[in-house]
Amino acid sequence: MTRISRSLFGDLDVEVELDAPIGVASWFCAGGRADFLVRPQTADALAELLKRCRQIDTPVRIMGEGANLLVDDDGVSGIVVRLDAPAFRSIEHNIDGKLELVRVGAGADLARTLMRFARAGIGGLESLMGVPASIGGAIRMNAGGAYGEIGDAVHAVACLDAGGETRVYTADELRFDYRSTNIVDPIILWTVFSITQENPVRLRERVKEIAAYKSRTQPLGEKSAGCMYRNPIDPETGERVSAGRIIDEVGLKGLQHGSATVSTRHANFFTIERNGRARDAIELGDLVHARVLDARGIELQREVVVWDRSSPERIGNA
Ligand SMILES: Cc1cc2nc3c(=O)[nH]c(=O)nc-3n(C[C@H](O)[C@H](O)[C@H](O)COP(=O)(O)OP(=O)(O)OC[C@H]3O[C@@H](n4cnc5c(N)ncnc54)[C@H](O)[C@@H]3O)c2cc1C
Repeated sequence: MTRISRSLFGDLDVEVELDAPIGVASWFCAGGRADFLVRPQTADALAELLKRCRQIDTPVRIMGEGANLLVDDDGVSGIVVRLDAPAFRSIEHNIDGKLELVRVGAGADLARTLMRFARAGIGGLESLMGVPASIGGAIRMNAGGAYGEIGDAVHAVACLDAGGETRVYTADELRFDYRSTNIVDPIILWTVFSITQENPVRLRERVKEIAAYKSRTQPLGEKSAGCMYRNPIDPETGERVSAGRIIDEVGLKGLQHGSATVSTRHANFFTIERNGRARDAIELGDLVHARVLDARGIELQREVVVWDRSSPERIGNA
């Protein structure tokens, strides 16, 4: 890898932070730093940054709200990009003159977008209530749950490819599966959603119902990144089964390793105590994985994205 020079960013409209504490900025509130945290201020600056990084073989990663991310204590090399500048957080209505289409920037906060939609009686995304995410991170993970997934409401997605070129995909070119999509481009720029006009009072009631379900079933107040493992396919029935229930049945609720614990509220949530180590959660995951494999013959797959110095140093890698 080429040594990164600050001159790489010199004439670009970007904000740059050296040795940035990205781990503590994630929802786990633990883990290491990035050599550079870069906040592009425009889409052109982001595209040019990608081109330059590719030319000099510099690793780039993209971080949304960090709600599905575990950054190893040793941190990561290269550049981490965040799209929290206003240029990436806009919400535009009446796309192509159509009332039912809304474009939302990838850096927009999902919860704030949902609250704004609920107040305006805009339906279509309320099933995502209570899922902490940026729009880009939610699309990358096809975030969702008992009430539906974000992919259900997607009309089109724009991405930047590794060479910095913009590509727009329509719904019929996209596939949204359980916590995944067929998008291979490294950066999601914006999404057009199909929305519906709803009675604002009824919509707000539904939003409250979904939020109440989430806070009843998940330890939202603790430092975690949601479900550690994807729900696996049961080899006997061929159906997806709850990883949390399996971990619970194997007797691992409350299992502790250093500063990390399998939540007693929801066995697929791992939590890290204040000033704890990311490595403890990674190792706890390995213990749980081995115990479930041993007891049930099921190979759990991680849903949380782990970044460390040995993981593929490419944007959007999962
Ligand atoms: C308390 C809690 C509850 C949760 N409940 C749920 C739930 O019910 N359902 C659910 O699905 N998830 C849940 N999660 C997990 C998390 O909310 C989702 O995975 C969410 O989609 C993560 O979005 P993010 O912006 O934080 O992405 P990050 O965690 O920052 O990143 C996740 C991945 O997306 C990539 N990424 C981020 N932004 C972009 C972009 N613009 N372009 C391309 N790639 C990008 C990253 O590189 C990384 O690979 C929960 C998490 C927490 C902490």
